[in-house]
Order: sequence, then C-alpha cells, then structure tokens
Amino acid sequence: FDEIDAICKQRGSMAGSTGVHDTVVNQLLSKIDGVEQLNNILVIGMTNRPDLIDEALLRPGRMEVKMEIGLPDEKGRIQILHIHTAKMRQHDLLTRDVDIKELAVETKNYSGAELEGLVRAAQSTAMNRHIKASNTVEVNIETAEKLQVCRLDFLGSLNNDIKPAFGTNQEDYASYIMNGIIRWGDPVSAVLEDGELLVQQTKNSDRTPLVSVLLEGPPNSGKTALAAKISEDSQFPFIKICSPDKMIGHSEIAKCQAIKKIFEDAYKSQLSCVVVDDIERLLDYVPIGPRFSNLVLQALLVLLKKPPPKGRKLLIIGTTSRKDVLQEMEMLDAFSTTVHIPNISSGEQLVDALELLGSFQDAERASIAKAVKGRGLWIGIKKLLMLIEMSVQMDPGYRVSKFLSLLKEEGARSSTSSKFAVI
Ligand code: ATP
Ligand code: MG
Repeated sequence: FDEIDAICKQRGSMAGSTGVHDTVVNQLLSKIDGVEQLNNILVIGMTNRPDLIDEALLRPGRMEVKMEIGLPDEKGRIQILHIHTAKMRQHDLLTRDVDIKELAVETKNYSGAELEGLVRAAQSTAMNRHIKASNTVEVNIETAEKLQVCRLDFLGSLNNDIKPAFGTNQEDYASYIMNGIIRWGDPVSAVLEDGELLVQQTKNSDRTPLVSVLLEGPPNSGKTALAAKISEDSQFPFIKICSPDKMIGHSEIAKCQAIKKIFEDAYKSQLSCVVVDDIERLLDYVPIGPRFSNLVLQALLVLLKKPPPKGRKLLIIGTTSRKDVLQEMEMLDAFSTTVHIPNISSGEQLVDALELLGSFQDAERASIAKAVKGRGLWIGIKKLLMLIEMSVQMDPGYRVSKFLSLLKEEGARSSTSSKFAVI
C-alpha cells in the first residue's frame, strides 16, 4: 500500500463525511486481522504521515513493525550517488575531477530523490554546453560526441537547481544577518562565545540532548541577528527559524501547528537548531490588557521542554525583548539559560562601531568621537544603523551634526518612553 494514509485515516476524523471512508478502514482492519486470520501474507504500507493513520491498524497483529526511513547520512549519500552515476561511469561520461565523496559532503540533508535529481540536473547542465543557440536551437554534434559531465556541472546544479526540501535553507537565515555582525565591544564577543559553548555542549554532551537558551535584551539590540549568527556558525545540518513574520494572520491553531511542524522536522535530524524569534510576538502579546494567546504559550512550553528522540540533539535559541513578560508566564524556567544582549552604552563603543561600519570619513568620526567622549549612551545596533543611514543622506558638511542631533533625540526618547532606557 503506497501512501497508505490516503485510505486509512483516523476513523471519525473526516467532518461531514458519509461514513464510507470509515467503513473502508473497518473492512481493511478486519481483513488483515479479524475473525478470519490472514496467513502467509506480508503487508507493507508506506506513508509520509504516520500520525494520520488509524491506530487500530498499527496494533500488534496488523502493521506492528514500524520502520523510519530517514535522510541518508554521508556514507549513504556516497552509495546513492554511486548508484546514480554508475551508468555514466561505465560509458565514460564522467570527467576524472568528479569526486563523489566531496559531493556527499556538500549534499547535507539531501534525500535520495534529490540526489538523483542532482545527477540529472548536472547532466542537463553539461548538455547545455553543447547547444548552439543560433536561429534555431540545435546540438553541436561534433563536440557532443565527447560530452562529459564534470565537477563544475555538479557544483553548479548544487547551488542553483536542486535544494533540499528539508533542513537548512541558507537564504532563510541569511536575510537576518544581511548587514553583518560587527564586534563593537566585549559584550558582543561574550555573547558569541557563549553561543559557541552552547553549540559545543549540544554536539558533544550525551547527558543533555536538549539545550535551550534565551537571548533577551532591549528592542533593536540585534537579538535576531545574533541568534541567526550563532545558528549559522554551528554548521548543524538542520537549522530553522520560527519567526512571527511568517505567521501573520494565522489563527491560534494554525500557529501552534506551524510551530509544532518545525520542531517535528527538527527531531528527524541528528543535530538540529531551532531559532524561536520574537517570542512575545509569537504569543500575540499586547501590553494593554495584557493579552496573549494561551494556546501558543502552552504549545511552546511543552515543545521547549521536550527532549528530542534518543540519539538526536537539539539546540533551541529563543529571542525576546520582554523578559519580564516571559518571566510572568513561567517561560523563563523552560530555557536552560538566558543570555543578555546589551545595547551600545558608551561613547567608546559607539566610535568603535562607527569605525567598523566604515560609514563616516575619518575626520567626521573624530568629531563624533569628541562629542560623545565619556558620555553615557544607550542605543541598539539596529537603531544605530538606521540613524547612520538617515544622516548620510545629508550633504557632507551637515552629516555629523545631523547624526549627533538624531542620537540626542533618540536618547531623550528612549529615556522617557522605554522601560529599558534607564538602567
Ligand atoms: P527587534 O527588537 O526589533 O526584534 P532585534 O534586536 O532582533 O530587533 P535585529 O533584527 O537583529 O535586532 O537587527 C540587528 C541589525 O544589526 C542586523 O541588521 C545586523 O546585521 C546588524 N548588526 C551589526 N552588528 C551587530 C552585532 N554586533 N550584533 C547584532 N546585530 C548586529
Ligand atoms: Mg528581532
């Protein structure tokens, strides 16, 4: 039975159905192991969604053995690639520089079908080189005789054509760090070091298969970027960012399911990292009221504490700018540690940041340095980037004064409106 979930859905689960479906399931159940037993018949069912199948079908006597076909590991990928390139090798269609081992390393998270697709895509890339594009498109017969698939064809299709459906999507988290991470002071290095330690702990410790860390800090301090950076540096095969911006307008239940899906995918990989961004947004928290979605809260609480299946490891990185709210919701205890992300808080750090960003001329920076020297400051890196971009739009002569006045305004605003401003 291929795709057995199509015929054996949980009985009673189809709203408004006529009951025909349930009858079918009943019939199958009684045929496999009913009053009259089936003997000497091997029944194999296949599915992507074991959760949808009626439990009665899975009990002993019916389909009692469950086998999970996971993603191939590196050794498996070498074998699969060998199988799909065997014919090509036989007919001398591969150049010598094609290194199956190297390809296997590069194809983290690829499934068997995707590896096959990769080989096919490399073939058509090679084919393209022999196509004469004149008035009509035709194959250049003379060169096509010697058609061979080379390493670059494989690498080309690896980067452009075939992406694994499951696992890390580099574009996914690259957008959160598009401005890069600048180390404007010790606090940033400290955070990245802590992150590195947690990554190592997840990888190496057998006692703690689940490590969770909460990055908390004032708004605009760069939490999301740092979380994405830590997960990128971890080089784990599975990295997913669970971000509220992908769930705008979702109902509570849809949100819970989306979050659950991300975690369930993570459980399938040996080493995974899940970033839960902006937790208070995920929870639909509003300070007036104060209101939040209890359904999502409960789902997160359970998922944050649930260890991955045996042999798998999971790192969870949460970010929030409302630690106090999470404390009240008793979510802080669900994380194994919290790391504080600070704002830029002194003139020296600000000058360092400006230098690293390379956004003003040396002379301009010197005058900014003089103006902010020794002054207390309190500004998030994201806000700072914004102020810089605003002031460099001005004529060169006015940039510095514009920047300083923006900075002052920002300081005044944050000290009146934000509860984080006064420390
Ligand atoms: P919000 O409170 O709105 O969620 P945030 O704290 O998540 O904001 P980010 O969205 O991470 O802030 O924005 C930080 C920006 O600053 C990113 O564009 C990032 O590339 C840039 N950046 C540069 N240097 C650093 C750094 N040292 N740490 C963090 N972010 C940095
Ligand atoms: Mg953020």
